[in-house]
Amino acid sequence: MPTSRTAEARILAVANQKGGVGKTTTTINLGAALAELGKNVLLIDLDPQGNASTGLGIGAEKRTVTTYDFLVGDATPADAVQTTTVPGLSIIPATTDLSSADIELISNEKRSFLLFDALRQLPMDAFQFDYILIDCPPSLNILTVNAMVAAHAVIVPLQSEFFALEGLSQLMLTIREVRQAANKNLRIAGVVLTMYDRRNNLSQQVEADARENLGELVYRTIIPRNVRLSEAPSFAMPVLTYDSNSAGAQAYRDLAVEVMAKDTHAMRRVS
Ligand code: ADP
Ligand code: MG
Repeated sequence: MPTSRTAEARILAVANQKGGVGKTTTTINLGAALAELGKNVLLIDLDPQGNASTGLGIGAEKRTVTTYDFLVGDATPADAVQTTTVPGLSIIPATTDLSSADIELISNEKRSFLLFDALRQLPMDAFQFDYILIDCPPSLNILTVNAMVAAHAVIVPLQSEFFALEGLSQLMLTIREVRQAANKNLRIAGVVLTMYDRRNNLSQQVEADARENLGELVYRTIIPRNVRLSEAPSFAMPVLTYDSNSAGAQAYRDLAVEVMAKDTHAMRRVS
């Protein structure tokens, strides 16, 4: 099978089976920050709730072709990929259709490889994406497994709250299983602390625990709790557009630079 140009795109899954930890916020704003740096970015909404799609202004009426059609149906990349209002940031949006994929896919032998195959088909080449970011659902289900099989690495948002590290071992176990079964080079790109409140001792404690237990895996960049980040989606824009000078926007810019640097380093180590 000929290798497609997309093989050169870095595919990063943003995953944590806990809900509300900042996966979608990270996917949208990291994507926007990478685009601001001149990268050509595709965001794949892999959560049936479609929050990333909504947050980027892709309303229900524009979701005629979705991630579900791209994975399970016969939608071509040209059918599925939409531009957003952010230059350099495209998206494949999701609808609740995707929630039935879980059940429908049980009988499909290639069920874990659907996204892998969809992203590596030759027509993807035309887009010349540099980064593909996958916003995962809050579960370690077949959709998240599809993301991990398709990805080069996983970004794990960790909410700076009590019990943050709980459940992380289950996530690591899933990553290990995917490595053994389907994607031996899958790595953890990094763990990013989100919703950090520097006045709160608990945030500092979670950070200390995370750095002690996970060491180098934890990004130096920390995403602060910032109201602009939570407001931006209702205005259908990334925080970088909504309030370019906010602490949240700056943090995601820093994260983008760190993700790029760390990822390049890792690529060099592999080769
Ligand atoms: P997930 O995708 O993991 O479920 P979200 O990214 O949707 O999590 O975040 C959950 C909620 O927290 C959302 O309402 C979001 O706007 C808000 N939020 C996320 N990150 C921050 C932050 N750094 N500061 C303030 N609010 C945030
Ligand atoms: Mg989400």
